[in-house]
Amino acid sequence: MSEEATDFIRQRIRQDLDQGAVEGGVVTRFPPEPNGYLHIGHAKSICLNFGVAREFGGYTYLRFDDTNPAKESDEYVESIKRDVAWLGYDWGSHLTHASDYFDQLYNFAVELIERGKAFVCSLSGEEIRASRGTLTEPGTDSPYRSRSIEENLDLFARMKAGEFADGEHVLRAKIDMASANVNLRDPVIYRIRHVEHQRTGDRWVVYPMYDFTHCICDALEGITHSLCTLEFQDHRPLYDWVLDNININFHPPQIEFSRLALEHTVMSKRLLNQMVDDAVVSGWDDPRMPTIAGLRRRGVPAAAIRDFCKRIGITKQDGLVEMALLDFCIRQVLEKSAPRGMSVLDPLPVTLTNYPDDGETLEAAWHPQNAELGNRALSFSRQLYIEREDFSEEPPKGFKRLSPGGLVRLRYGFIIQCDEVIKDADGAIVELRCRYFPESKSGSDTSGLKPKGVIHWVDAASAQPVTLRLYQQLFTDPVPDLDDLASALNPDSVVEFSGFVEAAVASSEMQHFQFERLGYYARDSELADTFNRTVTLRDSYKPG
Ligand code: ATP
Ligand code: MG
Repeated sequence: MSEEATDFIRQRIRQDLDQGAVEGGVVTRFPPEPNGYLHIGHAKSICLNFGVAREFGGYTYLRFDDTNPAKESDEYVESIKRDVAWLGYDWGSHLTHASDYFDQLYNFAVELIERGKAFVCSLSGEEIRASRGTLTEPGTDSPYRSRSIEENLDLFARMKAGEFADGEHVLRAKIDMASANVNLRDPVIYRIRHVEHQRTGDRWVVYPMYDFTHCICDALEGITHSLCTLEFQDHRPLYDWVLDNININFHPPQIEFSRLALEHTVMSKRLLNQMVDDAVVSGWDDPRMPTIAGLRRRGVPAAAIRDFCKRIGITKQDGLVEMALLDFCIRQVLEKSAPRGMSVLDPLPVTLTNYPDDGETLEAAWHPQNAELGNRALSFSRQLYIEREDFSEEPPKGFKRLSPGGLVRLRYGFIIQCDEVIKDADGAIVELRCRYFPESKSGSDTSGLKPKGVIHWVDAASAQPVTLRLYQQLFTDPVPDLDDLASALNPDSVVEFSGFVEAAVASSEMQHFQFERLGYYARDSELADTFNRTVTLRDSYKPG
């Protein structure tokens, strides 16, 4: 059913397969650094990497790029596994860590030294930065660049043995300080960090840098297409240089595509981390966060995220994607799958003065098209709640809901007419007294009455009191000012209502609902009796 994607990466892979350039099938990897939760930008990369492997009959490594022990944790590792699996992808037995290769990486670094292609540099970080030059000026050689191979081997071994403090020495590739590409100006490939690593403990005090690690891990795993985002384009010559200068029999091509940027949010783990630390959100899984965990908690189905990633496609052009596209994808999935229910956000009591004391049970389908979901029972009685917004004492022209003397249909129930408006001492409306028309029952209406509108309601006695949380953009501007996060935040990004849901919703095990006329909601995974609005309905009904 799904038309095949034909982006430039898939074209390239197809071509490689046709030319027999990929013998054992397509192998890709998704290489997150476990220093935060995954966000929807990562989902783009996950869908691409796992997607192409699936389409072309290959497999994908989930490889943790854990070379920076100070910022990494097990919590992040577990969250990443949970999120990738939840998105519907399976790494099978291909779960690895850069740290699995620490011994090999160390040996390749020694090999570079032996070939005269790497040296121990004793400049400070500051001095190295200062001598790197600029985009227009070449860098200057380190005074340690001419150390002998023997001295380099000795120093590197002693770095590993823990004889030196952090920053005292680094290992640098010996490439070209005058290269037009700054990444090739003798980049640091190993540094000293006396930090406990979440997997290797205190075994290592030297850790390899990303650019050195990544290409070697790709080669060791036989990655046939190393897909990464555009900011690595300038690192590609270094990726290739490392693999060309060590004895390794595999050389994956690095292919870059553009990152996802989404309106009204940020996609940097550093900023997301800061928002969690500063408690401007309740955590990584706050339903306003662009994280997979946040989207899931808000009620976004995995299928909607996959569809979104497919629709945005894979290109080399950076662009800003509208939030409305994600909302569209979410509605597409929920429209078909979410059972319907009734909920009242801002309840206004209604008494049906001519209704008998004993209530009755009405029936309604869980879903108008999907009969498999079956029916639910709806209690109906003398005391109901309707949405405060659905009553107007002085209705504007064209108002189709309830007003004094006016008629409206209660969804699945009866037609009612408002006879009396009860107010408190301050003039606020506290109750409506209405009459109902017994012969107007939905499905067997013989009343001949023609109300203009239909409104939702719940039965007061049986409805469950709940908290309903309505979410909006986390940032007011489509492209928030990242220098001033605090004031860029939308003060109304969450609005809470104390409302009700019908009893059948409260007691059901289902997670996602379309509350009629209000939007799509999901049960909160952490808080009891709390529903999160996942997305509005297309014809958005906005209370308040
Ligand atoms: P940050 O810069 O926010 O820390 P990152 O890119 O360093 O993010 P990683 O954990 O290294 O985060 O990312 C793992 C993979 O996900 C990388 O291959 C990266 O290119 C990809 N990725 C990250 N952000 C996006 C994005 N916005 N769009 C597409 N791919 C992304
Ligand atoms: Mg990274």
